[in-house]
Amino acid sequence: MKTLLPTSTAGSLPKPSWIAQPEVLWSPWKLQDEELVDGKRDALRLCLDDQVRAGIDIVSDGEQTRQHFVTTFIEHLSGVDFEKREVVRIRNRYDASVPTVVGEVSRQKPVFVEDAKILRKLTDRPIKWALPGPMTMIDTLYDNHYKSREKLAWEFAKILNQEAKELEAAGVDIIQFDEPAFNVFFDEVNDWGIAALERAIEGLKCETAVHICYGYGIKANTDWKKTLGTEWRQYEEVFPKLQRSAIDIVSLECQNSRVPMDLIELIRGKKVMVGAIDVATHTIETPEEVANTLRKALQFVDAENLYPSTNCGMIPLPRQVANGKLHALSAGAEIVRREILGR
Ligand SMILES: [Zn+2]
Repeated sequence: MKTLLPTSTAGSLPKPSWIAQPEVLWSPWKLQDEELVDGKRDALRLCLDDQVRAGIDIVSDGEQTRQHFVTTFIEHLSGVDFEKREVVRIRNRYDASVPTVVGEVSRQKPVFVEDAKILRKLTDRPIKWALPGPMTMIDTLYDNHYKSREKLAWEFAKILNQEAKELEAAGVDIIQFDEPAFNVFFDEVNDWGIAALERAIEGLKCETAVHICYGYGIKANTDWKKTLGTEWRQYEEVFPKLQRSAIDIVSLECQNSRVPMDLIELIRGKKVMVGAIDVATHTIETPEEVANTLRKALQFVDAENLYPSTNCGMIPLPRQVANGKLHALSAGAEIVRREILGR
């Protein structure tokens, strides 16, 4: 029987302190060579174990084998020079030194497929795998070759499609594309962003998701959120087109955010991963708080399409806090599950 309100996380989870410094983005690895290969696999198993013990239904690798959700994927591609760096403004929000696109981009070999096979062997639960979306990828690079954001996004979409097909063959049940850039570049999203995403999922038989959030709980993002006013209506700009797209699941930030919950009505028919865990605070939600957010969402999404989740990845959080939040998510979902089934 299909689980009602299956829980999952949006993406990254904290890494053990013996493999990388905790609470830091782009934290360098503490191990090298064979030790690093082994260490990543051990971290993956621990991370899976934490999710299972917390009662998470749809599990993931918690991004234990990558340094960063965008850059690690790009590092595996040819056509991008990581030595040649330029400072660009990421998502119109903060400056970062990024690699340069110097020629045609291509994927010479699979990036995460071996990791996915390992995770598949370790669990019978449904697994979800996150990849960066095409628009978020181009926003993390300086392009000195295509000189067109749209063209480069299209090339990345083709590459992502190759990777996604192999992940599907490795037994991944849900492939998720992270597109925080969808919350910023509305005209581009509607002109070609969603089309590029559909190119990335072309021919897939597994389920597909897009994660659109307000970012990790880091200062640049929390400062930006303060400028957004009392109502965050960004989702309104892209939901109508997304509703008509081929994407199955939309993953959103809802807990403690100022996103009006009724915007979810605009994607009626889609499955919705409702962020019921705030990743920008160390305060662990109570199960009742989680349940409250889910109840509000249920006004706009049918119960069979509601997937309780987190607002975003939890890598910047201490491990204990992230773990507590996983348990709260499960317990909160269970409260609402009982309410629905007892009705
Ligand atoms: Zn996110």
